[in-house]
Formats: sequence, structure tokens, C-alpha cells
Amino acid sequence: KVRVRFAPSPTGPLHIGGVRTALYNYLFAKKHNGDFLLRIEDTDQNRFVEAAEQYIIDALNWCGIPYDEGPGKEGDYGPYRQSERAHLYKEYADKLIETGNAYYAFDTSEALEEHRKDHEEKGKTFIYNWHNRLKLNNSLSLSEDKVRENLDQDVPYVIRFKAPESETLELHDEIRGNMEIDTAVLDDKVLFKSDGMPTYHLANIVDDHLMEISHVIRGEEWLPSLALHVLIYRAFGWTAPKFAHLPLILKPEGKGKLSKRDGDKMGFPVFPLEWKDPKTGEISAGYREENYLPEALVNMLSLLGWNPGTEQEFFSLDELVEAFEISRVHKSGAKFDPEKTKWFQQHYLQLKQDYDLAKEFQRILELREISFNLVYVIEVVNLLKERAVFVDDFWELGSYFFEAPKEFDEKSAKKAWKEDSAEIMEKLTQTISEIKTFEAENIQNEVKSWIALNEIGFGKVMQPFRLSLVGAMQGPDVFEIVAMLGKEETLKRIKYAVS
Ligand code: GLU
Repeated sequence: KVRVRFAPSPTGPLHIGGVRTALYNYLFAKKHNGDFLLRIEDTDQNRFVEAAEQYIIDALNWCGIPYDEGPGKEGDYGPYRQSERAHLYKEYADKLIETGNAYYAFDTSEALEEHRKDHEEKGKTFIYNWHNRLKLNNSLSLSEDKVRENLDQDVPYVIRFKAPESETLELHDEIRGNMEIDTAVLDDKVLFKSDGMPTYHLANIVDDHLMEISHVIRGEEWLPSLALHVLIYRAFGWTAPKFAHLPLILKPEGKGKLSKRDGDKMGFPVFPLEWKDPKTGEISAGYREENYLPEALVNMLSLLGWNPGTEQEFFSLDELVEAFEISRVHKSGAKFDPEKTKWFQQHYLQLKQDYDLAKEFQRILELREISFNLVYVIEVVNLLKERAVFVDDFWELGSYFFEAPKEFDEKSAKKAWKEDSAEIMEKLTQTISEIKTFEAENIQNEVKSWIALNEIGFGKVMQPFRLSLVGAMQGPDVFEIVAMLGKEETLKRIKYAVS
């Protein structure tokens, strides 16, 4: 059975790269009728941030990619927080020692720092591996008695993985294909720390095994760890899951990894939800708070590193599940394009029901202490929708439906309001006040026949007319606006413009 997991470390808010990783895991799971798990990898006490876990859960929920098992959704493989599984890992580290695949290392951090410095002075990098492990302070270099004595006296130790000295290792990645690596370049990574906690490498593998994970889909930054992970699986005698490493998300200009600073600089969020740093109080923008629809973010992210092999760009989540193929994920980095998200946003806004948009827009109106009945707001939304990208655009695009324009846009006024405009508008008032059926089509017919009868240029009427009502030369059909505003308000606005 396909079982995949998203395994973030709760060290801060989830970057959109993390959301994409979760999304691809979700799509892959659903495509194969499998399970999508959330596992919180919180073994690093130093980097733990309390609010981060809830943020991650909220973000996945907002994006509409819920997990089947995880914190708060206990399945048969819990608990799903590594801190709650802490008691579990030591026995596995011990097992590796027993089988000769790992060893105790008693080197103090000061001693290691010394080695590092010594090497640096000689222009070399210190690597703890087969090359020098016998010269260092560990259970491979010390006598058995000395090791026992150290352990009895509670000398602090870590447990290191003993990487094979020289072996060509075959690795396979579902996206990148086959790779070879010489194990001589690996270092003896710490699996278990002196604070009694496992490192990421050990906990991650033990959990993937115990949780019966079939496919590990994660960011490219973990590709350098693949050899070690494959070796650890082998050392345990376990079958390794299949691996797929997703390409980086790059800055819009294409060079380097997308960072929070790029977002700040260019004014777009790199986080799904707003995040307030608990230490500094600094607030980072989120797509949700910037009024994006989750569908837009998800659709954008789905194509950031994957393509369906067709021209199709708009995908509902179900369509994504249908179309997603892990083998079509790109090898090279994907350039982030903030404008593209807006483009998706515009599309998904159009798909929303007028009723739902009007409900949301009403809330914005309320903040301005403006209240209109829902039917009216629905009609406004319907007229303006085409031009809107966000719900709050409705105010920018159509405040004149709710308030008479206080000022007239100078450039428009210059173009639209001519010497004879006041006179023409006065006459128009006459015609309008006589219209009985105040509906757009009828108003249009009446005004047009009046224009024809009096042989006035169409533009000479319509331009100052629009200006009087809207305050600028924008907006939908004038007669639609007139019908919405009603006779009284229309006349009032013309009068004001003339004066
Ligand atoms: N905890 C790791 C992270 O934060 C998980 C990496 C993996 O998926 O193996 O990215």
C-alpha cells in the first residue's frame, strides 16, 4: 500500500516550498489510494518553536490538503510527534552498535573543535570518517575495557554510524534516476546525541520504517543524505522505501533559492499564512491574509516543478490527483513567479459564486460602516467580477455604487467635461426624470432616442454622464450603473457634477 508522509520540523512557519512538498505527497497518495501522514520531527530541542506545529496544521487545512494520520488524527502508527516517540529510538541505535554498524564516540565538542582548527590551518576540512576514526576517541579506537569504563562512568557519548570505507553505492531516485556514490566521501554521521535524543537521520528512518512508509517524497536539500539513509536501511536489514527528491524553488530571477527576503523585497508572501515570530514579534505576510484563495496557491504550486505534459494549466485538486505523475516532476529548479499566482487568483475568483463573494465583500463594506442589502451587493459583484482579482478589489473598482464620488479624477474630467457639458447634462436630467421603467435596457433605449432626436454626439452625452456617476472614466456599462443607483441618486449625482 502506498503510504507517504510530510515530515516537517517545527522550527518556524512553513515556507511555500514546504507546502509544495506536502501537496505532492498528498497528490501521490490520493492518486494511488494511499495514506498521507503528517509527522512532526521535533527532536531538535534547540530549534523547536512552539507555535510552528499548529501553524503547519492550519496551513495544510487552509490549502485543503488534509492528512489521514498525524497529530490529532491518531491512526495505527502513532504517536506522530517524534518527541512522543523519544523512548523508542535508543534501542535501534543500540542494535546498530551490536551489529557493528555504529559505535560510541566520546570526543568532546572542544576536542572536535581542535581537530577542525588544526585541519583548517593546513587548508583541509575535518571529516569524521574511516580515514581518521581510529585516531579519535571512540569505541573503535579504544580498548573494550576503556569503553566499558567510560560507559559505566557516564562519560557523555554520541552514537555514530560507521560508513563503509570504500564501496560504490547504487542509488535510485524516482525523479532523477540512478546515481552512484563512493562511500569513502561520507562522514560518520551522529545518529544519537549525548542529550539522549536521536538525530534527524535515525529518527526519520526508524519512523519511516515503523510507519510503513512506501515512498519518501521530500526536498532536494535531502539528496546528499540519501546514501547515508540507504546504508542505514541496509544496516537494519530493512527494505528501504522509494525516494523522490523535489527540485528547489528558485528566486523569480532564477538564481538561488527563494527566500523570505525575496518576498519582502518584491512584496509577495512566501508563507501560506501570516506568521508572527514569537521571539521578535516580526510579522511575515501570508497568502491567506493577503486575500488569496487557497485554490490559487495550490494550483500555482502544483505546476512549480511538475507539468502534466499537456497545455492544461487550471486544475482542481481532484484533477491534480488524476493527472499527477511523480515521473513528470522536473529535475531542475523551478522559478517562482508571483504574477502567476495572481493570474490563478483572478481565475479562481471568477469561479466563485456571486453570493459568496458578496458575503465577503459585505464584511469589507461593514468595516467602512457601509451597509447595503445583499441583493444589491450581489449585483455589484456580478457587474465588477470580471475585473477583480481579490475580493477587496470590489471596493476599489466600485465604491461609487455605495457612495457618490467626492472628487472627479482630474484627467478624466478634462477629457470628458466640455464647455457644453453642463447644458447637455441639465437636459439629460429632464429625460431621465421622465423614465418610468427604471431598468438598464429601457433607460438605454430612452436616452438613445433622446440623443438621436436632439442630434447630440453620443460621446458628448455619455462621457460627462459617466463622469458624473463614477467620478472617473471606468466601470461597466453606464446604463447598468444608472439602473443600480436608481433615479433619485442618478439625478442627484448629475446635479452635483453640473454645480
Ligand atoms: N524533518 C525533515 C525536514 O524538516 C524531513 C526531511 C524528510 O522528509 O526526510 O525537512
